[in-house]
Amino acid sequence: MKLVFATHNQNKFTEVQTLMPGHVELLSLNDIGCHEEIPETANTIDGNAILKAEYVNRHYGYNCFADDTGLEVSSLNGAPGVYSARYAGPAKSDQANMKKLLEDMKDIEDRSARFKTAIALSLRGNQNLFLGICEGTITQEPRGEKGFGYDPVFQPIGLQETFAEMSLSQKSEIGHRGKAMRQLLQYLSLNNS
Ligand code: IMP
Repeated sequence: MKLVFATHNQNKFTEVQTLMPGHVELLSLNDIGCHEEIPETANTIDGNAILKAEYVNRHYGYNCFADDTGLEVSSLNGAPGVYSARYAGPAKSDQANMKKLLEDMKDIEDRSARFKTAIALSLRGNQNLFLGICEGTITQEPRGEKGFGYDPVFQPIGLQETFAEMSLSQKSEIGHRGKAMRQLLQYLSLNNS
């Protein structure tokens, strides 16, 4: 079965490709000739994942899944949330986003936050949504060199390391994207005809 993963991020694609069950031939947006920016205009994380999966399905006719992730900080009323990528402006700079987050949280005591990943699957006319959540806290300073995005300032609950101080496999085991991805994989394995 051909299945498109609607991402322009080659790192994400390669990582996910290795996890797919044998009956799935994973295609990238490049593989299907989709080179445009897919609109992400919904005001929720779930909504954006659904928009992207349905866009590919509608315009290209392929079964497809898409993911969207956001960081929700309690004391900022859930911000940056769906705006996580552009928190510090349209340049989508990881460094600028982290800097703004730490500035916005200066003097704030409640540092609880969660990462949320939504994966929307559009398969043979059926829609499914898989959610993965990882609870944690925002550190006072960035720590660690691994990972990407907000990893250096996010410390999962019950652990001493930030995401940027742990291996990718440890992050996948406890992290938001890994949790959502395992649900998708289980669904695909059970629906393998
Ligand atoms: P996207 O939905 O994967 O494009 O991510 C939206 C925003 O959240 C971007 O600023 C990413 O850098 C950030 N982000 C997504 N996943 C993670 C993660 O696992 N760790 C840290 N930041 C992330």
